[in-house]
Amino acid sequence: MTERTFRPAAPDLPPITTVADTTALAQAADATRVAGIGPQSRPARAERATVPAPAPGSDPAVPGRGPDDTAGSEPGPKPVPGPEPVPEPEPVPVPEPAGVTVAEESVVLYEVDGAIARVTMNRPEFRNAQNSKMTYALDDAFYRAASDPAVKVIILAGAGRHFSAGHDIGTPGRDVDRSFDRRAGLWWDHVGESGAENRFAREQEVYLGMCRRWRELPKPTIAQVHGACIAGGLMLAWVCDLIVASDDAFFADPVVRMGIPGVEYFAHPWVMGPRAAKEFLFLGERVDAQRALALGMVNRVVPRAELAAEVTSIAERIATMPRLGLALTKKAVNQSEDLMGLQTGMDSVFGLHHLAHAHNAEVGADSLAGQDARSMRDARRASESTP
Ligand code: ZN
Repeated sequence: MTERTFRPAAPDLPPITTVADTTALAQAADATRVAGIGPQSRPARAERATVPAPAPGSDPAVPGRGPDDTAGSEPGPKPVPGPEPVPEPEPVPVPEPAGVTVAEESVVLYEVDGAIARVTMNRPEFRNAQNSKMTYALDDAFYRAASDPAVKVIILAGAGRHFSAGHDIGTPGRDVDRSFDRRAGLWWDHVGESGAENRFAREQEVYLGMCRRWRELPKPTIAQVHGACIAGGLMLAWVCDLIVASDDAFFADPVVRMGIPGVEYFAHPWVMGPRAAKEFLFLGERVDAQRALALGMVNRVVPRAELAAEVTSIAERIATMPRLGLALTKKAVNQSEDLMGLQTGMDSVFGLHHLAHAHNAEVGADSLAGQDARSMRDARRASESTP
């Protein structure tokens, strides 16, 4: 079992803006009414900029097309298929649509309404693909909510049509080669390192470490999930205490197709049971909200139009409970889950995850087994059309 405590976040956080209408945020992501959070990464040091460049001809990702069904995290950009039909990769990058720059500057939105803090991933043009800038902005937001004595419950939502398409492995804002001050642990900067060392140091910090840190946030958290919740998106939902999904939500972890045994935060057997986890991973298929409910992976499913209101209602009722009682109750359940092997199981599987990355890199072109957007999409469609 690993105890993790919150460390001070960056001292130059933007001021909190409190607004009254939390429902509108999830629908409109109006950045003018909320505080945008986005840490500035430090430029990669020139002398350390030795991370392999993207392979020639690799897809730089097209604005408006998120890297869905991703394995997350690898140095080689490998966009993979989306939650809906994805256009063929463009031979020439399309100019960024209007608004991209603004959204990129506020990749996470934060607002407080009474006792509820709402944290909203705000890269809707990329289906909230999670780059490191977003990761550290999420951490800023969670730290702020944890520190604010007025906040009792925290909601995590996604702006736009989807909760999260997974880790950013191909958008213009991809920042795998940028240095950020580490917070989840003391592993050194991955930038400039090579091979498995690069991958392990980075994923230990920004994926496994950060997710564990957020899971330990001593206030109740609720994931408000709509649309796609794919691969890395699962990790964000799973670290929350409750998951409320809309009826159009779907979940998938398709990375076995890359030879990888699931995403980095390997909670699968604990959030849905071992047998269902095997099916979920072996098939890599989308599981709809009702199936996720039946598996026990989500708490409730409501119509899309009612999602934000339902989550807010639950949060308001939780917020009537005493703060310490909630914190101790959360810790009680988390400790019990850890005693069922969550932490140690996850550590052991993290090794298998990196064995898979290393094997792929050793025998093939890259650590994702040469899979890219088109191959993953085509494979999924072929699989789904198989009688
Ligand atoms: Zn990985």
